[in-house]
Amino acid sequence: MMSKTHLAVGIAASLAVAPASVEGLCFALMGGSVGSLICDIDRNSERPTRDYKQGWGIAFTVFFAAFMHESYVYWQHFRADTIFSNPVVLICLGLLAVLLLFSANGSHRGFSHSLLMFIASSVLIFFVNRQTSLFYGIGFLTHLLLDVINKKPVRIFWPAKGFCLNWFYADGLANRILLLTGVAGCAALFMLKFQLEIVSFFS
Ligand SMILES: [Zn+2]
Repeated sequence: MMSKTHLAVGIAASLAVAPASVEGLCFALMGGSVGSLICDIDRNSERPTRDYKQGWGIAFTVFFAAFMHESYVYWQHFRADTIFSNPVVLICLGLLAVLLLFSANGSHRGFSHSLLMFIASSVLIFFVNRQTSLFYGIGFLTHLLLDVINKKPVRIFWPAKGFCLNWFYADGLANRILLLTGVAGCAALFMLKFQLEIVSFFS
């Protein structure tokens, strides 16, 4: 599917399991936005399409808006002195960089779309920031699901050969329906959980 569809469905799925709190919603937005698009880092070898650039533009905006909110309100989660003085976090960030470099240089729908990459990157992110790792994993899995129903093979069990269900074209009607459903789901779930947070705050 297209980048904006991956993003909308990944964030909606993350919001669906997020706790009804501002903090929980912010972590869902951060993890879901990155997790739902990170697989397509392997498209760097191709000329980026408008959809790809727009998708990452929206993902960065959502991520940094939620990150800035968390940094400001719950500053203890992202204190630079605790992050950069922790050797485990530094090692995990280094390994994550190596993993992303390896993924970016692979063929499209190769290693970056595998369960191996899903497990390795989710574990590393867990040690960097536990609160976002669950939502990152959810975003990642929705990406794999949406790609596997397309007509181009995905190497989920890399290094084994790829497969796909061959149901839909990545940019066809199914993509548009999923995009609209994802956007509607994001709006509805965000408003519902935000209202629940307000109600519990004043009760
Ligand atoms: Zn993909």
